[in-house]
Amino acid sequence: MKKIKAIIFDVGGVLTLGKKPSLREGRYHNLGVHEYVVKKFKVLLDQYLDAIDTSYAQAIVGEISKEKVVKILAKNFKTTPRKLEKIYIKAYRKNFKQNKQLFKQAFKLKQLGYKIAILSDQWHLSKEALMPNKNYKKFSPVIVSCDFAVKMRKPNPKIYKLTLKKLKLKPSECIFIDNQKWNIESAKKLGIKTILFKSNNQLFKNKLWRGLWG
Ligand SMILES: [Mg+2]
Repeated sequence: MKKIKAIIFDVGGVLTLGKKPSLREGRYHNLGVHEYVVKKFKVLLDQYLDAIDTSYAQAIVGEISKEKVVKILAKNFKTTPRKLEKIYIKAYRKNFKQNKQLFKQAFKLKQLGYKIAILSDQWHLSKEALMPNKNYKKFSPVIVSCDFAVKMRKPNPKIYKLTLKKLKLKPSECIFIDNQKWNIESAKKLGIKTILFKSNNQLFKNKLWRGLWG
């Protein structure tokens, strides 16, 4: 077995944890976020999800800019772009917490000589709310789907290849940790070592993870 040189972390459901279980995980980051926004704008959840569907899908792969998506949604919900942005940021911060224990472990792994990287699907508003620079500046590369230089999302094999290219590593030298089966499958097909994340306790007991600590 080749020596592991890098650990690639997912954000939603791994480095940030939803406070409430999500019904539409994968499609929407967390239903609690959308419920919060719905209440603020006094619209029905189904109508709301229909209204944001296309814009959200385009925004998460960077097909539309933050300014544009905020403008479209503000118009839909009859509010100002500034207010809309504020409410979303608040909604994400209310519904997610940073997984401090896992950040600590990641930084320890970095001290041990491993590269630590991020591979995450976000749209601009969740990125802004959930990925504060102080937590992420120690990771490299930080690959986020909505960014101009990325413009694609998991499980597109190309986004994993981009991550490997930036790491300058072979698939077998990396471990990818994600909470979604379909994201894991895609990485596995490329030869990346994978761990399907369920909880810190489960991860810390994982053989592959434990092997990192020598
Ligand atoms: Mg996730």
